[in-house]
Amino acid sequence: MFNKVQPCPVPIGYPAPLRAAGDVAALAFSLAEARDVDGATPDAEIAMLADKGLLLAPLPPSSGGNSLGTVAQTAPILRDVLRTIGGGPLSLGRLYEGHVNAARLVLRYGTGQQLNLLAQEAAKGRLSAVWNAQTGAGLQLDNGVLQGTKIYTSGSGIVRRPVLTAMRHDGLVMVMPDVGAACGDMDDWRPLGMRASLTGKMDFSGIPVADSEVIGAPGDYYRAPLFAGGAWRVLAVQQGALERLMMLYRRQLVDRGRCDDAVQRARFGEAAARLETARLWTARTALLAEDANIQAADIDALVNFARTEFEVAALAIIERIERGLGLSVMLRPNPIERIIRDLRTYLRQPFPDAALATAAGWALQDRPIHGAIGEY
Ligand SMILES: Cc1cc2nc3c(=O)[nH]c(=O)nc-3n(C[C@H](O)[C@H](O)[C@H](O)COP(=O)(O)OP(=O)(O)OC[C@H]3O[C@@H](n4cnc5c(N)ncnc54)[C@H](O)[C@@H]3O)c2cc1C
Repeated sequence: MFNKVQPCPVPIGYPAPLRAAGDVAALAFSLAEARDVDGATPDAEIAMLADKGLLLAPLPPSSGGNSLGTVAQTAPILRDVLRTIGGGPLSLGRLYEGHVNAARLVLRYGTGQQLNLLAQEAAKGRLSAVWNAQTGAGLQLDNGVLQGTKIYTSGSGIVRRPVLTAMRHDGLVMVMPDVGAACGDMDDWRPLGMRASLTGKMDFSGIPVADSEVIGAPGDYYRAPLFAGGAWRVLAVQQGALERLMMLYRRQLVDRGRCDDAVQRARFGEAAARLETARLWTARTALLAEDANIQAADIDALVNFARTEFEVAALAIIERIERGLGLSVMLRPNPIERIIRDLRTYLRQPFPDAALATAAGWALQDRPIHGAIGEY
């Protein structure tokens, strides 16, 4: 019964990456229930991402890709690719978004040789990732050797050439060593949702880093606008899950014959309006963030506001669905149960308070409100 709602078919004539994403999402959605176990690896889905050219796509043509999402013209296509994959299961969307983030950072700060390393990994069907989160002393780079650990490393065990942040004597640097087949420790990853994202803890002590594997200069990782501004891609993935939830909400309300009830209609209407709010923020930030003519501080502020508003909208939609459909959406195998668990987990993103505070500082400047970005 619950498999009735299939992913939105992608119309013929849409760009090839979007059709490819539609195919991946269809496979991933069909496997999502089976993947909802701790430590599951979405290997068939990743193989399809590779086969369909989506691992290479974010790289520039010089490395075999087509600059998907890294220039203003292709940002809306990447937005829809992420949204489509995110509407499969969010775990796969998270893994693919991490891969795109790595490609984006290497493209901005790295060398052609480093882009080719990512291309070689993609040709072998392997994702990259960005692993920054840590506790305590985290990860150090001393005399060309890594020492320490990272937490929340999505893709543990399947990513061989991640982008890692590590503290060197002259500041925080990004490095992209071959971490081999290190599996990571999944003991702490017993999450509410996102169980198939392989988000482990990894110890990189003893792994050597060649000078050619250091990306850019110290401080580049947090430099505006890629760190804060790049969060638009996370919103695009989450948008896919929100759209999927709304389709399932509508289907289950219709199946129960409860659409004519005035209170149910009002509640559904509120959820639909918030879905549009989330979509507008995601669409606008995708356009802004990859536009080279927009100031970095303006991009950061808008994406930070978008994160705040998106979270408000997403939590409101979840609440409407739970109230509107009741206990049934808390029972497996109703897919709404799983998607809400995944989304609640994935909504936890870095520094939410600081993101809003920084954006507020931007809006407090004495100038016309939003003057810097006009009616973009
Ligand atoms: C499914 C999933 C996959 C992930 N994969 C990756 C990955 O591949 N790579 C990676 O690097 N990270 C990854 N992360 C981690 C992610 O980037 C964030 O770091 C993490 O989700 C934030 O966790 P938290 O909510 O516990 O953060 P916290 O920072 O603990 O935030 C919790 C609350 O405390 C507030 N807060 C934070 N710092 C302070 C402070 N100093 N003083 C007062 N309040 C504070 C925050 O604003 C927030 O309200 C992943 C997360 C998820 C959910």
